[in-house]
Amino acid sequence: MTETASGPGGPTLPQERRLVTEVPGPRSREKLERRARHVARGVGTTLPVFVEAAGGGVLVDADGNSLIDLASGIAVASVGNAAPHVVDRVVEQVQAFTHTCFMVTPYDVYVDVCELLAELTPGDHEKRSALLNSGAEAVENAVKIARAHTGRDAVAVVDHAYHGRTNLTMAMTSKSMPYKHGFGPFAGEVYRAPMSYPFREPVLADGPISGEAAADRAIDVLEKQVGATNLSCLVIEPILGEGGFVVPAPGFLPRLKAWTEAHGIVFVADEIQTGFCRTGDWFACEHEGVVPDLVTTAKGIAGGFPLAAVTGRAEIMDSVHVGGLGGTYGGNPVACAAALGSIQTMRELDLASRAREIGTLIHASLTAIADKHASVGDIRGRGAMMAVEIVGAGGKVPDAARAGAISAYCHSQGVVTLTCGTYGNVLRFLPPLVTSDALLTEAFGVVSAAFDATA
Ligand SMILES: *Cc1c(COP(=O)(O)O)cnc(C)c1O
Repeated sequence: MTETASGPGGPTLPQERRLVTEVPGPRSREKLERRARHVARGVGTTLPVFVEAAGGGVLVDADGNSLIDLASGIAVASVGNAAPHVVDRVVEQVQAFTHTCFMVTPYDVYVDVCELLAELTPGDHEKRSALLNSGAEAVENAVKIARAHTGRDAVAVVDHAYHGRTNLTMAMTSKSMPYKHGFGPFAGEVYRAPMSYPFREPVLADGPISGEAAADRAIDVLEKQVGATNLSCLVIEPILGEGGFVVPAPGFLPRLKAWTEAHGIVFVADEIQTGFCRTGDWFACEHEGVVPDLVTTAKGIAGGFPLAAVTGRAEIMDSVHVGGLGGTYGGNPVACAAALGSIQTMRELDLASRAREIGTLIHASLTAIADKHASVGDIRGRGAMMAVEIVGAGGKVPDAARAGAISAYCHSQGVVTLTCGTYGNVLRFLPPLVTSDALLTEAFGVVSAAFDATA
């Protein structure tokens, strides 16, 4: 293994699937015992191998196994692990200073990130940003800002939504187990409208329900049950993340946006999972030309460092009184430096285009699997955010057990896969955007074998 300035990981790692023990191997199993003695049980693990190095599209574990990464740490390591620009900028920043608290004494890298966010997020209106530590914190701040701006309390969200694990964002999240179960009472004034979920819409006599009609259905619920003039904001993921990579029918988002505009409701796009090139554009809203009032970002923004942001219209963002936003660590200089390195990498390698290429490759692989397996109910997603919904009898009944078995087979063969969805029956694929075609082809060979082995 070549040692570089970035240590034994990073892009110098051999890009290969290599199993030298079973997964997890004896070293990882030993470490798992220690984990169980010291780490709270509530913190789950998808694939219990302990990672010692990672880079490009692979993770190397304590037993020397090299696994193909189709998760990116949940859409975070989009530029790959230990990406050179991220490492260089972080090292430089760590040596200069590590923390002042931006609210005490400011520094350039925070402002640099805000300037880039204004440039990259949809719309050419004047924008401001606030930097935070996590996605949930960004969503909480978007709601605070929308409430301050409108003077209204109510928050609208949709079915199958995921917005985080803090008290307000648990209220905004749809799925009970494991995110909310036993953790209430939850924050009030959160209202849920039906989502456009093309695969699970009732089939009407004249065909599938249109995006516009699905939006009208949601609007009707909100107008009747809450009242448009009571709503501060509508918070929505342009493509559902944890909820199952559901892409709403075309027209759904633009119709909702027009309605919020007509009623002075702040439209918040939660692009925490979809943002930063993941779907083949900088932001998923761009696919339908929707310009949100506020955008929340996190995950892919900083190559793995904890950073999140709310970015939006200057007049909305600046309606909050001085001192009303912030936090001790929000916009930490090292995380900001990592974001600058990550964005530089995305631009230099044109990772938005690369995400579209990856999407084409994954879609073709999944289509070939669907030809052989009726358990593939739906293939969906955009760019390098693709998923299959696994079903049983009749082509609609969710089959979470099969999805789990397919994922477990992939893990045993050295491919890191994730499941998601309200019914737990969706396999989702989120490879780093720097993964080679060869590695992806190999990984989807394993996914295909997993369908065969579990049939
Ligand atoms: C992951 C996620 C969040 C929460 O982000 P954290 O950093 O885990 O708090 C919020 N919204 C969406 C869409 C997400 O995917």
